[in-house]
Amino acid sequence: MTDDCLFCRIVAGEIPATVVHETDDTLAFRDIGAKAPVHVLVIPKAHHQDVAALAVADPGLAGRVLATCAAVAEKEGLSGDGYRVIFNTGGFGGQEVFHVHGHVVGGRPLGPMLSA
Ligand code: 5GP
Ligand code: ZN
Repeated sequence: MTDDCLFCRIVAGEIPATVVHETDDTLAFRDIGAKAPVHVLVIPKAHHQDVAALAVADPGLAGRVLATCAAVAEKEGLSGDGYRVIFNTGGFGGQEVFHVHGHVVGGRPLGPMLSA
């Protein structure tokens, strides 16, 4: 738990979130600023800054975060049509919250991967 981390505070129950899936060490909740019909954030409950730090510190947990992304996609009905999992990393990656999170987005065709 990191006191000044928004997502640690969601894990601690200090900030409300709409949880869609939970395991012993991961949590999935709806993004407050959804960019698609389905937009869910998947995090490890433990604080790691970004996906690179998580992969070094705890590769098993990194795998379980991915498994939770897949479980969310299945639960939200995205598996048939397809979906996207995005880990924004660092400044150029557009990361705003420095507690690693995968965005699971879908529910419509998502278009090209990057804007120009
Ligand atoms: P990033 O840009 O770091 O990859 O994504 C951060 C995401 O967190 C954004 O999509 C933003 O909408 C979402 N977000 C920011 N604050 C909150 C919050 O308080 N609750 C929830 N559920 N999502 C949030
Ligand atoms: Zn955190």
